[in-house]
Amino acid sequence: MQSYSLFAPAKINLHLEIIGDRADGYHQLVMIMQSVNLGDIIHLRANGTDSIRLYCQNPQVPLDNTNLAYKAVRLMQEKFPKSAHNFGGLDITIEKNIPVAAGLAGGSTNAAAVLVGINLMWSLGLTQPELRDLGALLGSDVPFCISGGTAIATGRGEEIEPLPDLTDIWVILAKYNNLGVSTPWAYNTYREQYNHLYVCDGQGIKQRTHAVHSGNLVKAILKRNSEEIGALLYNDLEKVVLPEYPFVSALITAFKKENVLGAMMSGSGPTVFALCATEQIATSIADIVEKNINDSNLSFWVTQMCPHGIITISNE
Ligand code: ATP
Repeated sequence: MQSYSLFAPAKINLHLEIIGDRADGYHQLVMIMQSVNLGDIIHLRANGTDSIRLYCQNPQVPLDNTNLAYKAVRLMQEKFPKSAHNFGGLDITIEKNIPVAAGLAGGSTNAAAVLVGINLMWSLGLTQPELRDLGALLGSDVPFCISGGTAIATGRGEEIEPLPDLTDIWVILAKYNNLGVSTPWAYNTYREQYNHLYVCDGQGIKQRTHAVHSGNLVKAILKRNSEEIGALLYNDLEKVVLPEYPFVSALITAFKKENVLGAMMSGSGPTVFALCATEQIATSIADIVEKNINDSNLSFWVTQMCPHGIITISNE
């Protein structure tokens, strides 16, 4: 029986701007997304039964039909019933390296890996845009996770335009193990506090989106100027998450005191990331901040920006 193993990178947001509300209940966003080399490994294997079976050692990951990887298999079975019938059920093993509920799109990248893996396993021949359209049915971050790298994401996050790859920037990720932020809570709280600033007319949305496309961060990315990229990080959700989670706020301040290019919360948090020019600088700053804060609940990862989304690492 055929099996595939895929690498599913996490993402950080270099820019996250909430423009307004949409008729479908989601927020209208404009984001600049970046894959990082910290990722999960997803193993897919035809199991010769009719069932979808999930395996993961991390107790925070649900092993039932609420898992986004499970939902991705169900979606492919619904869309391609003949192949589903021919190939039968699947065993999915998730090697979880991405912290859960961390603002790093862990569940979304697992779903993206399942879509890419099944496309290969069932020889469906779907293109990246077709896979991204399927991904959008599962979650707003899934389309980006499929193609990854550096990209502008608009709409509710599902419309992706690639930017040139950034690879020479190192990324420290830091997260309190016992802290998770609910993404719906963060967006709903933002709506409660800031909806007087929302722009909902087509022209206004276009203008705000265009301002990011032609803005300084995109210019810095096109020039691959890491100092400018670090100085231009932006996340609207910090306005509601940081006052509620002073530990996260203190962590950002601790990084900013060191020689980082920039530091910010990723997505809806609570993971904080700091950008550094070299691996050596990143490792030594992670050590310094770890010592200064001295909390055994705080975990650090040193990784690098990654130029791709889901990739196959083995096929047997
Ligand atoms: P996002 O940034 O896309 O909002 P996140 O990185 O903050 O997501 P996830 O790691 O995706 O958060 O986890 C959010 C919740 O999703 C978890 O608490 C968990 O119950 C559920 N979940 C479903 N499928 C998965 C999966 N494959 N991996 C991790 N969590 C999953």
